[in-house]
Amino acid sequence: TLSDRLATTFKNLRGKGRLSPQDIDDTLRAIRQALLEADVSLQAVRPFIAAVRERAEGAEVSKALNPAQQIIKIVNEELVAILGGETRRLRFAKNPPTVIMLAGLQGAGKTTLAGKLARWLKSEGHTPILVAADLQRPNAVTQLQVVGERAGVPVFAPEPGNGVGNPVKVAKDSIDFAKTKLHDVVIVDTAGRLGIDAELMKQAADIRDAVSPDEVLFVVDAMIGQDAVITAQAFMDGVGFDGVVLTKLDGDARGGAALSVRQVTGKPVMFASSGEKLEDFDVFHPERMAGRILDMGDMMTLIEKAEQAFDQAESEKMALKLARNEFTLEDFLNQMEQLKKLGSMKKLLGMLPGVGEIKQQLNEIDDKDVDRIAAIIKSMTPGERDDVKIINGSRRQRIARGSGTTVQEVNNLIDRFLEAKKMMQQMAKGGMPGMPGLPGA
Ligand code: GDP
Ligand code: MG
Repeated sequence: TLSDRLATTFKNLRGKGRLSPQDIDDTLRAIRQALLEADVSLQAVRPFIAAVRERAEGAEVSKALNPAQQIIKIVNEELVAILGGETRRLRFAKNPPTVIMLAGLQGAGKTTLAGKLARWLKSEGHTPILVAADLQRPNAVTQLQVVGERAGVPVFAPEPGNGVGNPVKVAKDSIDFAKTKLHDVVIVDTAGRLGIDAELMKQAADIRDAVSPDEVLFVVDAMIGQDAVITAQAFMDGVGFDGVVLTKLDGDARGGAALSVRQVTGKPVMFASSGEKLEDFDVFHPERMAGRILDMGDMMTLIEKAEQAFDQAESEKMALKLARNEFTLEDFLNQMEQLKKLGSMKKLLGMLPGVGEIKQQLNEIDDKDVDRIAAIIKSMTPGERDDVKIINGSRRQRIARGSGTTVQEVNNLIDRFLEAKKMMQQMAKGGMPGMPGLPGA
């Protein structure tokens, strides 16, 4: 996964203060691979990576983030921006009814989505109807009727026994029906085939012309991966659409289709479907999808928290102290307390896939740990805090007694402090101050 790959990158980049061309190349290579694995089409990956590279090359060096984290932050921001920034809302007609037409391949989830949309609109105070304009499959009308019943929304369907219905006529008639019965939204379910099909594409275009929809929504199964682009392009050319609905997000598809379809057609993803039940439906959230595509768990939250917790002035003071070799136990305690500010860090890390190394380092720090360290350091005299070298055996015993800990724990702390000091001095030479135990931060 990207996390695993980046764990290596993190390690390689730790302690560097600049985004070198090599750093950018390495990180972008990992990200490119991850995007392809998330089913983003090559067509969409290229311009995306180019945009990220441009920003990364111009980026100022962050104090709080290491170069890899910084690039991930840019990648995430770009992903969210391309996925649509803020979600676009449905456009309602000035003169009702608002007509929403669904198009897409068979099995994409149109009929299911029709019910979800109807139920949702109803809960928002609308009075929608569902229209059965899929007369291709024998049981399509019945399926929509079942869905309508569950959503508590009426279904407009051809009269039974009228021979083979004409979907274009049904769709057209439904508008008049909605007007007379005061339904303010009409959701038109259409037919699809398993593959792109000229005849059905024409039928969809005819329905579109007959009902002049306010919104044509292209419904696409996230599981079809890279094929989504070809399908989207075909529907764009054949019918045209205004927005995209991504379905079956409850599966293990990473959702790269969202990025590809958006980049290739320029149309926003508006809704997300994530299950067979009518409630498994939500407006589309670009940030969530960006996280899913990157497969970074809550890495972004972590990055934000690290940025917040890492006080810039504090870090500059620290850099100065390090340069003068004045880093003391007191400072060590301050830094531990900064780490504590990161709060639920460990819980967050628990959600991260595969960041084994960082996880392990942070595992060594928990709140109780920080409290014990504080107790030990507070049991030292100011002289001892300033110069750890004077803390001999009998002093260690006194400190352990005073802090309610053991000599072993006092020894551990001193070792850890010396190690952190050494590590930080190395970092300082690389031009980047950091916190002990938190790689590269
Ligand atoms: P249509 O041919 O485009 O109308 O697709 P349907 O609405 O009939 O859906 C095809 C199949 O996919 C049905 O078995 C649905 O229950 C299922 N389905 C639809 N949306 C979702 C979804 O978001 N998640 C899952 N797991 N299944 C879905
Ligand atoms: Mg259907």
